Amino acid sequence: MSKIVNFVCSPEEAKNTAYLAQRIREELGLEYSTETNLDFRWRKRSIDARQKQIKINASFEVEIASKLPSRFSPQIFDLLQDNPKVVHIIGAGPAGLFAALQALTQGIKPIIFERGKDVRARRRDLAKLTRSHELNTESNYCFGEGGAGTYSDGKLYTRSKKRGDVQKVLEWLVQFGASEDILIDAHPHIGTNKLPQLIEAIRNQIIDAGGEIHFEHKLTDLELEADKIARIEINGIQLIPVSSLILATGHSARDIFELLHSKKMELRAKPFALGARVEHTQAFIDSLQYHGRASDEYLPAASYSLVTQVNERGVYSFCMCPGGIIAPCATSEGEVVTNGWSPSKRNNIYANSGIVVGIEPTDFKNPTDPFCCLNFQREIENKCWMAAGQTQKVPAQCLKDFVEGKKSEDFPRSSYQPGIVSINLKEVFPPFVYDRLRQAFIDFDQKMPGFITNNAVVHAPESRTSSPILIPRNPITFQHTQVSNFYPIAEGAGYAGGIVSAAIDGLNCIEKIAKTLINT
Ligand SMILES: Cc1cc2nc3c(=O)[nH]c(=O)nc-3n(C[C@H](O)[C@H](O)[C@H](O)COP(=O)(O)OP(=O)(O)OC[C@H]3O[C@@H](n4cnc5c(N)ncnc54)[C@H](O)[C@@H]3O)c2cc1C
Repeated sequence: MSKIVNFVCSPEEAKNTAYLAQRIREELGLEYSTETNLDFRWRKRSIDARQKQIKINASFEVEIASKLPSRFSPQIFDLLQDNPKVVHIIGAGPAGLFAALQALTQGIKPIIFERGKDVRARRRDLAKLTRSHELNTESNYCFGEGGAGTYSDGKLYTRSKKRGDVQKVLEWLVQFGASEDILIDAHPHIGTNKLPQLIEAIRNQIIDAGGEIHFEHKLTDLELEADKIARIEINGIQLIPVSSLILATGHSARDIFELLHSKKMELRAKPFALGARVEHTQAFIDSLQYHGRASDEYLPAASYSLVTQVNERGVYSFCMCPGGIIAPCATSEGEVVTNGWSPSKRNNIYANSGIVVGIEPTDFKNPTDPFCCLNFQREIENKCWMAAGQTQKVPAQCLKDFVEGKKSEDFPRSSYQPGIVSINLKEVFPPFVYDRLRQAFIDFDQKMPGFITNNAVVHAPESRTSSPILIPRNPITFQHTQVSNFYPIAEGAGYAGGIVSAAIDGLNCIEKIAKTLINT
């Protein structure tokens, strides 16, 4: 049985293996028996930067005089038997891919249809979008193999621990190529440069075990018979009979919401959040969070997590990307959208984060209209596109100028490569958003003195924080409330927010479907 050893040390000590070995011996009372072999490895690691003296909370697994067992047993994905039951999955984001992997463990054949391209081809479309503002509406930062999470920071922490097996998702990610650090760090992340290979490894596993993935295959219609979906239409031409259909199309597939609405399937407006992406220099965030110290080989690029209440509404930082870049995340013509990503080393000179205001259906005239939040999201994205010159450039304002309500004359450099245009953001945000953002910045400046500075740039809009529509389902069986063989899951349906929770919803959904299939 391995022993657990916990202690607190400095960041430098945490990187010094000889020190750690000696310290573990001391903690175990073995310092005088240096002939005893120790095998040890990190179990958990977190940074405590509350005081000037920054500390690492360290936890180790230790085996005395024998070897530690491997951290976890990799999942074996056996080749499917002949004539397996089949599940059709729409969308190859984290939810669709993890549902497919889980289906294989249950002897069910997953067939995925994904509107976008594979990760490599997708990368070329992202380059065109960034360099020449050419948007491919089927292959972009939100659509394509791996879904919205592929070209992201790959942050893996989740608040949805109660919803399912976070550990299993992390272990499978390690099995497919992520560093074991994600099993150790309190705030694990993978990085944009590492995610595509990992997604490719998942794809290869699905295919090797007998599943199918079809890229550039977009769900365009559904044929209902009684309370079931009998057939799906792909790319407007191909009709495919289905027995169980998982919908994992993410928060940006507006055509899917419109399709379901046209079929008279129930949808509900859902609260989401909208605001802007704020970028400081990473050196500034490091110095605030690390009490004047810079991030270095011992300390990662610092992050922040901020929240306040303004006029009874939450305003908070969202998807903070230390050492990251702001990306153009539009999916349709006539809009601009920002989000952020970071490479695994988080070594860019910028630190960006969404700062967003909670938006409720009751903010609109007709809160029972399922599209009221989505229409508002679309309207702001379009306003920003119009204001900044109808390209992928975004409206921007220096942070201090935003707070003072002044158009910016001059900007520091921005990481947003398509470019920024000076706009007073009062022109694009309605007062109930603008005023809350403004007050939140003032509150955040109290918590992080210096946060309000004209060396920081506010880029608008940050609008794809979660789905503005809920597709209702039975909470126990995950079946759509009206259509029994239809399973709306993860972020697009309103049941997840982030890579890990989306993957968990995919795993859980297959458990539900497997039970139904066994009885048929
Ligand atoms: C730039 C960026 C950075 C992010 N950073 C992080 C992060 O660091 N950590 C984190 O947890 N989350 C992050 N997110 C959010 C995260 O990516 C999503 O929460 C997650 O991907 C949701 O998973 P999903 O499977 O539900 O949907 P998605 O990942 O959105 O996948 C849906 C898939 O369905 C496909 N699809 C849509 N319509 C159709 C159709 N009609 N037919 C066929 N296929 C269709 C899409 O092309 C897409 O591939 C980021 C998002 C972006 C855009």
